[in-house]
Amino acid sequence: MRATTGRALTAVLVALFLTLATGAGPANSASPATPAAPVPPVPPKVTVNGQPVSWDLPPFMFEGLVVVPLKSLAEPLDYTYQWDSTARRTTLKRGPRAVSFAPWSRRYIAAGRGHFAGVPAKVVEGRLCVSLRFLAQALDISLTFDPKTGVVDLDPARPYTAVARKPRPGYVAYITFDDGPAPDTPAILDVLAEYRAPATFFLIGWPAKAQPGMVKRILAEGHALGNHTLSHAHDPKQASWRLRSVEAYIAELDGCDRIIFDIADVHTTATRAPGGSGPYLTEEFQKALRERGYVDYMWNASTGDSAWPRPTPDQMLDAVVERLWNGKLTNPIILMHDGVSKHTQTVEALSAIIEYLRYAGYTLEILE
Ligand SMILES: [Zn+2]
Repeated sequence: MRATTGRALTAVLVALFLTLATGAGPANSASPATPAAPVPPVPPKVTVNGQPVSWDLPPFMFEGLVVVPLKSLAEPLDYTYQWDSTARRTTLKRGPRAVSFAPWSRRYIAAGRGHFAGVPAKVVEGRLCVSLRFLAQALDISLTFDPKTGVVDLDPARPYTAVARKPRPGYVAYITFDDGPAPDTPAILDVLAEYRAPATFFLIGWPAKAQPGMVKRILAEGHALGNHTLSHAHDPKQASWRLRSVEAYIAELDGCDRIIFDIADVHTTATRAPGGSGPYLTEEFQKALRERGYVDYMWNASTGDSAWPRPTPDQMLDAVVERLWNGKLTNPIILMHDGVSKHTQTVEALSAIIEYLRYAGYTLEILE
């Protein structure tokens, strides 16, 4: 009985450490469906190579993570610390390694790529404070927790060990891109390949016909092709086909499907209406879709990347984080765009969005 209790206590302590010290536990604050982990009144002690850190501001808890003032750690870790007031970013630098954080941004930038930073870099009493675990990851230094002493130690001489992520059962996210193929499609495919992240591309027929190589590349790299109609004609001022008739809409889908089939030898079943399903795709439309073997996939989590002016990559990541928290979504279908116009911000935001989704326990899959 005593041994069982001991094991249970150890399990609780380990879970607590994973959640609080590293932010890696499945019961992080991004998962409202999971009961909240107990939060200790004070964060653990932090040392660098066993030496206590002299803090500008003591570490504190924020969104379930241990957060520390960046500047206090720069010196013991042997990094230079520089605030760029024009770019509004703080950069830690040592040799070729440079990592930068911006106030209230959930991303840090390393080697030109944006990464999920766990929590927004918080400004407290004029000091920029970031997640300790994500800082260790960013700088690639080891972070170990001793449950006996309750101390977290950083060792700059040893590399960071990523904590294995456990996907949450049933939590599946679907990343989707609309309106391509387009000039930003290759860069998006490069990021997806780097992360081995599958996505669904809802193509418009005419640009697909003009870029058969891109259609083939999307499919060859393990993504799904979706049907976003032949012409994307949905402007209400143009007496939209969608409002005109079911037959006109089906003809638009069939036209796009034919082009994709001619290029890639596959029929598309996943479809998305230009501008979204509601309120236009009534039951009459849905019935006709079903009869043709099509499935309509509306999104339920938009990154807002088609808005004008364009949101920043930070705003796109925030939109996803907030939508998934507030909506308690187990199966988010995330809307992004690779066409018709430029979507540089989407390319920049994508890596951190993928990292966030996996951090929050989602498995990524394609729509079919
Ligand atoms: Zn569209």
